[in-house]
Amino acid sequence: MRGGGWALLALVLVPAFGTEPVWADCPPPAAEIAEGAMALAAQALSVVEPDVPPPAPSPAGRRTPNGGYRTRHGFAIAPGCFTGGTTPESIESTITTLLNRASSCARTRLPGYTHALFNGVLHDGATITCRSGECAGETTGACYFQDAAGRHRVNFPPARGHLGTSGTWFHELLHAAGADNQCVNRHNATGLSFDARAQDDEVYFWEAACFQPEVILAAMRAGDRAICSRALHNHSSRPNRVRHHLESIKRTCRFFLNYLTDESALITDARERLYPEVFSCGAGTPACPPLDSLNTALVAAGEASRALPTPTTLAAWANEQCHLSAGSGSAEQPWSPLYTCMTRLESHLEERLQGLRTKVGDGGLTEAQVSAYERYFRSILRGSKVLADLTDLDRIVRRAGSGAASSHITELITECRAEGGAGSAFCQRFETDTVPRLAGLMARWQ
Ligand SMILES: [Zn+2]
Repeated sequence: MRGGGWALLALVLVPAFGTEPVWADCPPPAAEIAEGAMALAAQALSVVEPDVPPPAPSPAGRRTPNGGYRTRHGFAIAPGCFTGGTTPESIESTITTLLNRASSCARTRLPGYTHALFNGVLHDGATITCRSGECAGETTGACYFQDAAGRHRVNFPPARGHLGTSGTWFHELLHAAGADNQCVNRHNATGLSFDARAQDDEVYFWEAACFQPEVILAAMRAGDRAICSRALHNHSSRPNRVRHHLESIKRTCRFFLNYLTDESALITDARERLYPEVFSCGAGTPACPPLDSLNTALVAAGEASRALPTPTTLAAWANEQCHLSAGSGSAEQPWSPLYTCMTRLESHLEERLQGLRTKVGDGGLTEAQVSAYERYFRSILRGSKVLADLTDLDRIVRRAGSGAASSHITELITECRAEGGAGSAFCQRFETDTVPRLAGLMARWQ
């Protein structure tokens, strides 16, 4: 959110043309057209992106005489911010995450020019305040100001009880860096979701691209491939916004597209090579249950409709249960049928297990037969759970971004190995083929 100093700009009268809303701090359409022509000319030039490293941090932060705090990277934290659980340590942690993620993002998708402007703000220093009433009408819980001397200030409403996430800091500092492509009223307009704002508002777009990439990826997986550049092409509002060289825009899109290509290949491989192993038994563990004799007993008990798949009909049975054979998924969502399959399997198999339990004794089945089937059933569910987790794509990206990539993979391996699954063909293939590729995908968001 932006506020404060920009309110002065709202006093400038702007003539209205046509029916499009005209924001008070934005140039009139005629000026926008002229500006667009200039922007096109600028694009034709080779833009050298400046390399401005962030300032070297002090070894330690320090308390200031007024009860505030000066962080290692030079942020002045006002005394009123140390409420709730906010401590110098928590602030330093947020800033460390902020700088690491911004730097990582710059290496892969954030244009060098924008990152240099962001680093320039760090050189200028910024004051962090926590005053009530300054961010009125906002939805993000923080706002940026520039005082008369051009100094940067970010305010976090104290009602929140904390100083926001590193993503929120990034957002506010992008305002300070001048990354806006929307005028203030448009940027601050209420009633829009974060996802919608990321479509055409460059500050929200970069916040998403660097700190919530799952938002961009979800839109692209759903077929909106242009979201990776739409906000960057939007020159319509602010006269002094950051201009991007076309190669920078392509680089950002390429990063997301490459990820989706590799993600799609991983899921397709999981569906075609890993998925059949879920039902494997014999050499691995657990051993196949006596499915033939179980079926004979079920038919004899008048329960032919509950018949179980045999070793030779397993794959066809599973495909039928899952409707997996109905299609391999769209180009954007190849995991969709696999995910549907895995989530349906549990209820199908649970229902059959309950049916078998009613046939023990008088129903013609022995406890040993049913127990053998249950072991097999549990092994299928174990593999099914691993595959369902593998297709939980947003969670994979979020966990990678929060630094939990290795624990995520460890949890999947532990899950696969549980209840004797360590020696199964499924887990062996999962650990040998899938895990390294998954680790490579997750590393891109760290
Ligand atoms: Zn904002």
